[in-house]
Amino acid sequence: MQFVFVGNNLALDFCNTQVAERKKVRDLLLTWSDFYHWAELAELPVEQQPDVEFERVLALRADMTQLIADKAEGHVSASPKLDLLNDYLGIAHDLQHLDFNAASGEFILQPRHRLLPVSAVLAKIAEAAAQALVAEQRYPVKKCANPDCVLHFLDTSRTGKRKWCSMDICGNRTKVAVHQRKHS
Ligand SMILES: [Zn+2]
Repeated sequence: MQFVFVGNNLALDFCNTQVAERKKVRDLLLTWSDFYHWAELAELPVEQQPDVEFERVLALRADMTQLIADKAEGHVSASPKLDLLNDYLGIAHDLQHLDFNAASGEFILQPRHRLLPVSAVLAKIAEAAAQALVAEQRYPVKKCANPDCVLHFLDTSRTGKRKWCSMDICGNRTKVAVHQRKHS
């Protein structure tokens, strides 16, 4: 299975790098290069880093996944898992700077780095997680309605009735199963 970007939110897409396959959780981030590839697809071009950085990627994902699953179930509480998230939130604002472009005679906002250090990528993910978790968030965090699926998404649909991570992955499969039960 490939990476899925169905979350409508960077942090949810990041947590959705753990997927369910045949009722077992399968991790799509097994190595640093998996994360490098994911970040590229998420349009966060990350610097190559030594392996030790990969531990930090997985640590943040583990804490965020728990927070997001709790939020989707409506069980939020003060949690030590906020600490790591807050560490990354602290550096989220250091990623761009205002520049003067003499040629155009205008100010332009530039990314500070062409390739992002891993801490900066994790900071952007943490920022997206914070946006998904706060009460002001106008869209609910939901878990896919397929009980065997572990993917989460922000329901940004107009009706607020989105049930599936995606029609292709779970929606159609479930419809087909219902259809087969009815006709067997
Ligand atoms: Zn699903």
